[in-house]
Amino acid sequence: APDFAAELSTLARSTPNSGIVDIMNYGRAKEGLVRLWVGEGELPTPSFITEAASRGMAAGETFYTYQHGLPELRRAIADYHERMFGRPFSEDRFFVTTGGMHALDIAVKLITEPGDEVIVPSPTWPNVPAAVTVNRAVPVSVPIDYRDRRWVLDIDRLAAAIGPKTRAIALNSPANPTGWTADLDTLKAVLALAREHGLWILADEVYGRFSFKGEMAPSFHEIADDADRILWINTFSKNWAMTGWRLGWIEAPPAFAQAIENFVQYSTSGIPGFLQRGALAAIERGDGFIAYQNERVRQALAIMNQALAGANRISYAEPDGAFYLFLSVEGFADSRALAFRLIDEAGVGLAPGGAFGPGGEGFLRLCLARSEAQIREGASRLHDWLLRL
Ligand code: PLP
Repeated sequence: APDFAAELSTLARSTPNSGIVDIMNYGRAKEGLVRLWVGEGELPTPSFITEAASRGMAAGETFYTYQHGLPELRRAIADYHERMFGRPFSEDRFFVTTGGMHALDIAVKLITEPGDEVIVPSPTWPNVPAAVTVNRAVPVSVPIDYRDRRWVLDIDRLAAAIGPKTRAIALNSPANPTGWTADLDTLKAVLALAREHGLWILADEVYGRFSFKGEMAPSFHEIADDADRILWINTFSKNWAMTGWRLGWIEAPPAFAQAIENFVQYSTSGIPGFLQRGALAAIERGDGFIAYQNERVRQALAIMNQALAGANRISYAEPDGAFYLFLSVEGFADSRALAFRLIDEAGVGLAPGGAFGPGGEGFLRLCLARSEAQIREGASRLHDWLLRL
């Protein structure tokens, strides 16, 4: 056979592998492993959501449907924002997508030309720079620095990264993997930069309901108005334990509606109607479930804090939001090699920090949205392994 791999396009060859998927593939078949590498909770989707989807399917909602999402769902997403931010939102701003990942991909497509730069504070969810790359734009990372057990984004360095080709700033807060959460002053400073330079903000607030300070993390919705260049990326995945459903939304100026319709038409051609019935139930009736999950994550954090207090070689910033611990492990420069060793020698699966871009090397990401038993077992295995070193 011909060397097919050599015939792959430049785009295909330059698209990076995911360092998280890499470790999952390695550990997938291992028995007895405590798997804390994931970016999802282990709770199943609540039954009031699955039942709503089943009813939709039984009722025959299996045909092609609106490219923008069911009108009822768009209205319900707008209502959800009204509940959270205490002011009216038009449903014309919300477009249902195939998960947050699809929303991110569309966002980059909407506003970049090939070669345009998108600033990405890092460590970051690797899909952000990858989404920029697959759309032939260029991610430019700016460090979120780890200092004295805190993550700090230096606004002056962010400003210094803005150049003639900069088109957007992708800000994820609360952040995966660090738990760093921008306070309102930081959001104001980023918005001021965007206004000054005419840049877009790709606002990823998917962990906004997982906040350990207040009920909700600070949001650009509190300070922006309709004249601001902001595209919000959001998802049903985390709040309502729906990672496998592939449902999310993008919030964009209504002037982008036709372009979004086109991108959806020429990629997924829409989101299954019966799944959107599940999403509708989630967003209308899921506040209690969010509170329950939030409480579980807080408990997991408390358990980890106790279990890892004084652990050999480990330090971390206590997260203000999201549901991860990003552990600095002293003496291990190669986080991938360390993650493989932990699987084999400690029976714990963690995600290698190097997978999260510049600034992530030397760290490991641990997911807190797991059962108390898994959290306790994972912490004790990690602790014991580090002691044996
Ligand atoms: N944004 C961040 C920061 C994430 O961590 C994730 C998932 O891991 C997403 C967006 C999107 O999730 P999904 O594509 O499952 O909706």
